[in-house]
Amino acid sequence: MADVNALQKYRIYLQYLEKKLGEYFQEQSPYIFCKAGCSSCCEKGEYPFTEIEFSYLMLGVQTLSPDTIKKIEANIEQIRKDKAECKEKKFLHACPFLIDKKCSLYDFRGIICRSHGLAFFDKDQHLLVPACVDEGLNYSNVYDFENRTISSEKYKATGIKQEPLAHNVGVYYLTNNEITKELGLDFGEIKPMAHFFLGED
Ligand code: SF4
Repeated sequence: MADVNALQKYRIYLQYLEKKLGEYFQEQSPYIFCKAGCSSCCEKGEYPFTEIEFSYLMLGVQTLSPDTIKKIEANIEQIRKDKAECKEKKFLHACPFLIDKKCSLYDFRGIICRSHGLAFFDKDQHLLVPACVDEGLNYSNVYDFENRTISSEKYKATGIKQEPLAHNVGVYYLTNNEITKELGLDFGEIKPMAHFFLGED
């Protein structure tokens, strides 16, 4: 688990991140169709996390009711069984902290949970859009589904002034940049979230 000093630095970084991501979401608002009650991004995934983020998430558990904690424990047990039976290379699952289609640890959620929804560049500088584009959600109004990319023709046809842009908001970048270095914040390795709650080595 991350130490108190690391968690303090992480809290400071989160303040910076919230502001920055807020600006990006505002800028990209013509392409963002996230709405209350939609939990699609928490229903199937690996949820890349680091130890600091998971330790911070666990601080939030102390704020939950015993009933919610029981539901989370049951979710984790189900995920443990599903993972043992999974034959796929990637194990995708619902986040165990998603209760009644809402994040039970919203204020303590990880970086991927905060940045998800925006178009972004991955580690190799490939432009990606969130998977919910296939559900007719984010960036679907400017997406070329055949070529799997943002289409400048579709964008022009919308008449929207603000261009659809990708930002450097991939988890790799957000856990390893000038600000994290300045803060002396070492996130360490990024792993699927299940690694942490299943207690794997
Ligand atoms: S921690 Fe919350 S926001 Fe993040 S994936 Fe889980 S339910 Fe979704």
